[in-house]
Amino acid sequence: MIAELRNVSKTFNGITALNNVSLEVNKGEIFALLGPSGSGKTTLLKIMALIEKPSSGEVYFNEERVSDKNLQQMRMQATMVFQKTVVFNTTIYNNVAYGLKLRKIPENKIKEKVNDILKIVKLENFEKRLANRLSGGEQQRVALARALVLGAKLVLLDEPTANLDPRNAAIIEEVISTANRDLGTAIVFATHNIFQARSLPQRIALLKNGRIEQSGTST
Ligand code: ADP
Ligand code: MG
Repeated sequence: MIAELRNVSKTFNGITALNNVSLEVNKGEIFALLGPSGSGKTTLLKIMALIEKPSSGEVYFNEERVSDKNLQQMRMQATMVFQKTVVFNTTIYNNVAYGLKLRKIPENKIKEKVNDILKIVKLENFEKRLANRLSGGEQQRVALARALVLGAKLVLLDEPTANLDPRNAAIIEEVISTANRDLGTAIVFATHNIFQARSLPQRIALLKNGRIEQSGTST
């Protein structure tokens, strides 16, 4: 397994967002987190991305427990794409290359990686276009490309299609499945759409009031 939550709870000023959640994500799988608004989906993803700290319970990556000591290094294991994506006011190429530049990857290698990822998100030949002129669905794919290009083995998507029309939602679903297949990336996505939760993933967990009510395979 790539990631695991063990008995994770999270409270915000007395409000329980997650209540004793245990969850395993296997290497290379697509996992859906289905639940209504307010059920704790975003909180769960943030805890798995090591953006939020659980109030109690533990997080593991590759069987190793996350602690204050290894936190920075463990953060490389997972990348989260937020529900409201923000693109930088520059070209698609610069948007996707940004994280790699920070990591001081050589320019020719960056070019190669960016081009490969743009193919996967179906934005090839978009390198020179300005990100903030793109449609919502295209911007969502830029955000996805920025996460995928970093090479994390786990990518967490918070309601990736919530604000999109059915056609653009279908493209995102296709991109998720291509990325999973071609890059071997495990993908956990949150959704309130039962149909999406049925078609795309191998496994589903149903979240209600911060608890996992049910989990199982989707077929
Ligand atoms: P979902 O993503 O399923 O809509 P969230 O994880 O955003 O659910 O929220 C779960 C619960 O935790 C909600 O009651 C929400 O109001 C609360 N919550 C989430 N984040 C915070 C925060 N930063 N401060 C206070 N309450 C929060
Ligand atoms: Mg949410």
